[in-house]
Amino acid sequence: MMTLGTLFREGKRRLREARVEEWELDAWYLLEYVTGYTRNEYYLHPERRMEEKQKQEYLDLIQRRIAHIPLQYLTGSQEFMGYAFQVNEHVLIPRQDTEILVEEALKHVQSDMKILDLCTGSGCILLSILKTVPGLTGLGTDISEQALLVAGRNRADLGLETKAEFQKSDLFEQVEGRFDCIVSNPPYIPSKTVETLMEEVRDHEPRIALDGREDGLYYYRKITGQSPAYLKPGGMLFFEIGYDQAEAVTELMEQDFTHVHVVKDLSGLDRVVYGSLRA
Ligand code: GLN
Repeated sequence: MMTLGTLFREGKRRLREARVEEWELDAWYLLEYVTGYTRNEYYLHPERRMEEKQKQEYLDLIQRRIAHIPLQYLTGSQEFMGYAFQVNEHVLIPRQDTEILVEEALKHVQSDMKILDLCTGSGCILLSILKTVPGLTGLGTDISEQALLVAGRNRADLGLETKAEFQKSDLFEQVEGRFDCIVSNPPYIPSKTVETLMEEVRDHEPRIALDGREDGLYYYRKITGQSPAYLKPGGMLFFEIGYDQAEAVTELMEQDFTHVHVVKDLSGLDRVVYGSLRA
């Protein structure tokens, strides 16, 4: 029989030897996931005996992590804007950088507004905006039905069933009506670059959530071009962008939008572009 402490050490050893970057943290999160123990409970009783079944489950997860499956797909969860979002291999794992997009949008939205989130994935952007500002309603669309199932579960977890709608749609195809605000973190990585990403992302996150085609700008062109028909007068469009796309996306937006701004992320890289529909 193994103790909790020996098992944790074994998990750390295997991840470190396999050169998993965050080996210590990942070994801990998987242990917490399997046992439900907090750090405190662990340090009070590392001599606790582990059942064979839990031990096997833990070591299986460690092996899957070594096979480059992202930690969040193993635990099924990622925190975003302070909320726990369910994730699986059908949705992009919410990124901290994307919180910049949410924070910018939050500076401009007010009660009673209607928000549209294109390429909603897990629903993290739309749902965290609706959760933060009471009185908002919104629609999230995605081309992936599997992603929308995840978004629906997150909506239920956050108690937003009456505020958020999700709809299968290729961008605006099934969208009706006009919105005060459109937000989107579309796939924006040039096809060729996708091959150079770390294995966790390249081989396990959904390709359709990453690949922005030839030059990475395909979705910005389509969304910027069609947005005016789906925005109310003075409505706003917010994009997450790749670090080297600010100039190109600003240029696209300046056709129909004014007051176009670029916002940097916490690493000082361009991350968000937004503007208001020109009168
Ligand atoms: N909107 C989701 C997110 O930001 C998914 C984005 C995507 O699939 N490209 O996490």
